[in-house]
Amino acid sequence: MIPFLDEDAVRAALRWETLIPALEQALIDFSAGRVLQPVRTSMHIREHRAFFGLMPAVYRDILGAKLVTVYPDNGARGLATHLAVIQLFRADTGEPLAAMDGRLITEMRTAAVSALATRALAPPDAHVLAILGSGVQARAHLETLRLVRHFDEVRVWSRTPENARRFAEETGARATSAEDAVRGADVVATVTNSGEPVLRGEWLKEGAHVNAVGAVGRTRRELDDRAMQEALIVVDSREAAAQESGDVLIPGVGIDYELGELLAGRSPARRAHHTVFKSLGIAVEDLAAARLVMENTTRTCS
Ligand code: NDP
Repeated sequence: MIPFLDEDAVRAALRWETLIPALEQALIDFSAGRVLQPVRTSMHIREHRAFFGLMPAVYRDILGAKLVTVYPDNGARGLATHLAVIQLFRADTGEPLAAMDGRLITEMRTAAVSALATRALAPPDAHVLAILGSGVQARAHLETLRLVRHFDEVRVWSRTPENARRFAEETGARATSAEDAVRGADVVATVTNSGEPVLRGEWLKEGAHVNAVGAVGRTRRELDDRAMQEALIVVDSREAAAQESGDVLIPGVGIDYELGELLAGRSPARRAHHTVFKSLGIAVEDLAAARLVMENTTRTCS
């Protein structure tokens, strides 16, 4: 029987210091065409206001898929809104290798990829961070962005003021309006489940870097037209952005780079008022993280 690794086992096996370099290499390989990966298949489950996503890929000697559910109303039930399982197989024979819980992997790989984008694109002396949203990704982003820049001020806004206040108390951030949080910030993370813009371009200072992480779907966006039109735009996958990103499709902006291209050493050839990393989340990130979990678990057990 193949093992099923639960969230505790995944937590014991994943470390930022190994996850971040593994994701960097995975994104480089993806943008160099060394990964077989279709854009995810998404099913809208209207009855439950939910989504089910199928995210397969083949990466080096591993074949696998993440099955992910997004139930935005789960918060009120005391459950996580994003739940997942990941199944890995041998790419050469198709034999199953391991199955594992994918909730924490989704949390950590997303924030780790934003850290890579921030390291590549934010000013080296960035010291003010604004976070729009106060959920799972807000907390993970605070942790990872601190690994790549030294922030002496963190501001948070959230739709439910009580949630922003709790986040602020727990983390030392300052709860404020979205506009006050963003004005003057060097790095911004939009990590909400909003389908309408929560970030306006007119608030962004020149040179700021934005990680736009929420809003997956052609008709959903977190950034307004100006925030996108005045930006150098970097995505995890051009193909995914062209199908799944309202932030890109609604204002009709072009994509400058994939993150993997910049991580491989390409330098942006044009200057813009600010930079935006539009994250959709791609299967190779999940596979790279799940492979680390499998390897570290096997090593610990043997
Ligand atoms: P959580 O459920 O933990 O948090 C959701 C956050 O969104 C809360 O801060 C909530 O605010 C806010 N929110 C919900 N609805 C609205 C709205 N209509 N307007 C403004 N704010 C709203 O989710 P996560 O932190 O796990 O995920 C955050 C976002 O990131 C989601 O959109 C998710 O789909 C996306 N995501 C993207 C990934 C990627 O790879 N790019 C991977 C994982 C998630 P409050 O509680 O104050 O009401």
